[in-house]
This record gives sequence, C-alpha cells and structure tokens, in this order.
Amino acid sequence: MNGSTRIGSEVSHSDQLRQAGLRVTSPRLATLAVLAERQHAETDDIAAAVRERLGSVSTQAVYGVLHALTEAGLVRRLDTGSRDAARYEIHRHDNHHHLLCRVCGRVEDVPCVKGRAPCLEPEDDLGFAIEIAEVLFRGVCAECRAAETAPTAATA
Ligand SMILES: [Zn+2]
Ligand SMILES: [Zn+2]
Ligand SMILES: [Zn+2]
Repeated sequence: MNGSTRIGSEVSHSDQLRQAGLRVTSPRLATLAVLAERQHAETDDIAAAVRERLGSVSTQAVYGVLHALTEAGLVRRLDTGSRDAARYEIHRHDNHHHLLCRVCGRVEDVPCVKGRAPCLEPEDDLGFAIEIAEVLFRGVCAECRAAETAPTAATA
C-alpha cells in the first residue's frame, strides 16, 4: 500500500498509461497491478482484487477501466466463448495463443510459432486486410485427464 510497486519493470504503469494517452487514475493503476500478478483473470475476480486494493470500486467501473485499457492496447481480452466471462491479461504483443481446458476452465499460454500476427491466413481473404488470427485451442488439461482416468473409490 505504499504506491511504489514497480518491481524491476522498465516502464511503470503510470508511464504506460500516459504513453497510451490515458489519464493516470488509481482504478487504472490498480487494475494493471492486479493483471501483472495474475494472468487470464476474469472480470469479477479483477474487480474483487481492485476493491481489495482501493476500497469501494464498482464492478461496472472496473468494466470501464478494462475496456479503456483494452482499447489502448495495454490489456488483451480473451474471449473463451463459454459460460465464463471474458478473461484479461497484460498485453505483451507477442501474439501468443491459448489453451482452454473445457473441464476446469483453466487457460494456459502457448507461444505462436510465427510470433507475429497474422500467423494464419485464409485461403481466400475476400479482399480483407487480415490483421490477426486468434487461436484458441480447446481440450482437456493434463490434470483433468488424469482425474478422468483415475479409478474412483466407488465406480458405478
Ligand atoms: Zn482442466
Ligand atoms: Zn495469455
Ligand atoms: Zn500463431
């Protein structure tokens, strides 16, 4: 709570906000700090963590902050398209992709083979200038697979 939490990062969050043309506000700083600690967090969890840092901040306000940070390219939004809300992470501009476990919902990063967007292009782009291919691999993670195959105490 001393406001000096720039642990060796080259550019402080305040500088990042200024460089992106955004005003430096405590909800924005708190949101970036929360995302720096946890990857792929869901909106509700981010809002709860921001409240822990700042006291009363509405979830709606955190939505607004996430939207502004995403628009500014500081934060990357990941849509899993499932019952889960959107997830957010600090935008590292490395074009990495994601693995999503359909059982437990965990999300892991996987590097993009090409490392820059777009890493895939359709056979016919219909005249579009393709900017990015978002790749989400869906499946079952190692832990859930182990749990699935493990013999349970009382198998029906
Ligand atoms: Zn899993
Ligand atoms: Zn990621
Ligand atoms: Zn790729």
